[in-house]
Amino acid sequence: MFKETSQAISVFDLFKIGIGPSSSHTLGPWKAAREFISVLREQELLQKTTKFKVELYGSLALTGKGHGTDKAICLGLFDKDPKTISKEAVSELFDEALRTHKVSVSGYEIEFHLEEDLTFFDEEALPFHPNGVTFEAVLEDDQTIRETYYSVGGGFVVQEGETEEESQNLKFPFQTAEDIAKHCSEHSLKISELAFQNELSWNDGESIRQQLLQIWEVMRSSVYNGCHTPGVLPGPLQVKRRAQTFNKRLIQDEDYQSIDEWLDTICMGDYSFSEIIKWISCFAMAVNEENADFGRIVTSPTNGSAGVIPAVLLYLLCFEDAGPDNEMIVEFLLVAGLIGILFKKGATISAAMGGCQAEIGVSSAMAAAGLTECLGGNFSQVLMAAEIAMEHHLGLTCDPIAGLVQVPCIERNTMGATKAITASKLALDSNPTDAKVSVDEVIKTMLQTAEEMNKNYKETSQGGLAVNVSVKVSEC
Ligand code: SF4
Repeated sequence: MFKETSQAISVFDLFKIGIGPSSSHTLGPWKAAREFISVLREQELLQKTTKFKVELYGSLALTGKGHGTDKAICLGLFDKDPKTISKEAVSELFDEALRTHKVSVSGYEIEFHLEEDLTFFDEEALPFHPNGVTFEAVLEDDQTIRETYYSVGGGFVVQEGETEEESQNLKFPFQTAEDIAKHCSEHSLKISELAFQNELSWNDGESIRQQLLQIWEVMRSSVYNGCHTPGVLPGPLQVKRRAQTFNKRLIQDEDYQSIDEWLDTICMGDYSFSEIIKWISCFAMAVNEENADFGRIVTSPTNGSAGVIPAVLLYLLCFEDAGPDNEMIVEFLLVAGLIGILFKKGATISAAMGGCQAEIGVSSAMAAAGLTECLGGNFSQVLMAAEIAMEHHLGLTCDPIAGLVQVPCIERNTMGATKAITASKLALDSNPTDAKVSVDEVIKTMLQTAEEMNKNYKETSQGGLAVNVSVKVSEC
């Protein structure tokens, strides 16, 4: 059984700039392929490699096609960086590999016939984690080099046999919410201040702020792009993009020329409760439509749930009158990141391990916590908000129709965002000492629920909506 980690995790491990549609099935395998290339390069074997073969196991095999794992593996073998590659280059390189049956890496052309050399082992899962991938390099003398990796959720990758790295010396080490509360209480810290102090183990203060603002820039661009792109998402479901229509209806005849002007227009608007709910939904859907269309998004903590945090942060900036306040954006992301780390340490952020509670549930808890601190909540209320948000996602299954991160995923982000706001409001108006459930108890419950959840509901598309909604299998 995959176990929780005691490693030091940075908020930048949780927030990663990348390409859709899935952190575990796209970003993780992509990263694993690049790590395999590095192994070959370090051993000076790349120049001797004549062919690649790749095997996908468990959930990666079952939903890999819908989640773009084949593309990700291919782009990883080309050694391209998902953080910087353009959407156009993704398609071009994938088409090139399909046409030539080769990938080109560091000037070497290596045979990789996608239809023959990429095998999906639907019936087989490796023992350590359901998302297993094995790479094989065939050398000139027919010798083979094989390495196995696991995509353990949120774009994190573990190599077979890898031992945990030495834990970084954090100023405020923690494993549980109780540890966090103790540090905050003893040192009179806000949760964002604790997170910031810990981040100083990796980066200086200015770099932390700049990186978080860069994360925000990508998040808000993904919202803007999603709100201005009409059409139909790729794949057999032919899902219509809706964020663009929502935006058009809500913004009406207002004129704007840039993302800043667009946001100013929204922030200055006088919207009813019903319209604010529609805006939040529009923001969340926009990101996940971009994600489903192989667009650039921020994994937070996963790709499938990437719309929740931007939607709640925009709610704060536009509808709680915070305005474009960089300090508040940094504070929000530090708190959200720290709560994400807590769930990764105590349970999982992998849908293949825990179903959708591990994705939308965790992102909702992260967003609820960030919002609560920015609205003036103390550390106990911040933790309470995270607990409430997760409590009401417990047991949520993962059952993407046709293996695509589209239905129910896109709408589910709207639910995660609105629940986060409700959880924050409840916590802000409550006395946390009256709470009956603690964050640590909800994390323990989430892990237990994950362990007892039927595997059909863990990103396999073998249960739930995936088997009850009629899409012809031959179309998938
Ligand atoms: S159902 Fe939830 S966990 Fe599963 S792919 Fe969709 S968003 Fe991710």
